[in-house]
Amino acid sequence: MPKSRPSTRSKHPRSSGQAPSRSTGRGPGRTSSQAGDKAGGRTVRVAANEESDGNSDSQVLTLEDRRVPLVFQQNKRARRIIIRLDHGTAGIVVVLPTRASRDQGRRFALLNKGWIRDRLDLLPPAVRFEHGAIIPFLGVEHRIRHRRQRRVAIWREGNEIHVGGDPERLSQRVEEWLKREARREIERRARRKAALIDREISGIAIRDPKSRWGSCSPTGALSFSWRLVLAPRSVLDYVVAHEVAHLKELNHGPRFWKLCAALTRNADDARAWLHRHGPALHRYGC
Ligand SMILES: [Zn+2]
Repeated sequence: MPKSRPSTRSKHPRSSGQAPSRSTGRGPGRTSSQAGDKAGGRTVRVAANEESDGNSDSQVLTLEDRRVPLVFQQNKRARRIIIRLDHGTAGIVVVLPTRASRDQGRRFALLNKGWIRDRLDLLPPAVRFEHGAIIPFLGVEHRIRHRRQRRVAIWREGNEIHVGGDPERLSQRVEEWLKREARREIERRARRKAALIDREISGIAIRDPKSRWGSCSPTGALSFSWRLVLAPRSVLDYVVAHEVAHLKELNHGPRFWKLCAALTRNADDARAWLHRHGPALHRYGC
């Protein structure tokens, strides 16, 4: 039986029962480097009362030879401008308090371009789906190989993913294949686990959310990130168990964790893996 360590549970977002917000883990938003954290001190109080329309918008910040995507997010609860790195897009998110303008946010980002450059240098490079690229599949590295002579097909052989057909469409086809494989792995496990606890799943969606690995709606519809198929099997299995457990337990209380532990092995290890390596899964296929 899987063991559980209560200390790791507190990191998981808890829901309040009434309006359950149930999801597994967080993506780059939660785990990205925060310029506004205590150590970094890259925050500034905004005194000016400039106009802001509350919409999220994007721009590009030019840093020498680099063009860095800049995304603005208005946040009523933010008390200062905060910049953080989005591992998925290798861009910078500028969180603006209500009174701050995008202009101020942009200036703040420019003031901190040294910090931004340092963080980008540390970021692992994006991996495109192309001939020769190495990507993880269920946690195991695989090399993508284009097979010119082959008809349109995609298949796995040893530690290689072979892709036939038009090379122009290789990237798209690899992504579609990964999504199909993700659905197959996830659906099989979800149905089996739901049957174990005598619950019905009303639907399973495979998506590409930025900040969560899975979710469960009050109507029993489950949603998962296709990128879980890049992670080790045990991690994918944990996320499925987590969402299926929500079909019975709506919050993250002790009964939920007990149920979750009964539906998968090593939930704590899987959560630790997601926390540490999850953000890097967003660099594939971008
Ligand atoms: Zn949850």
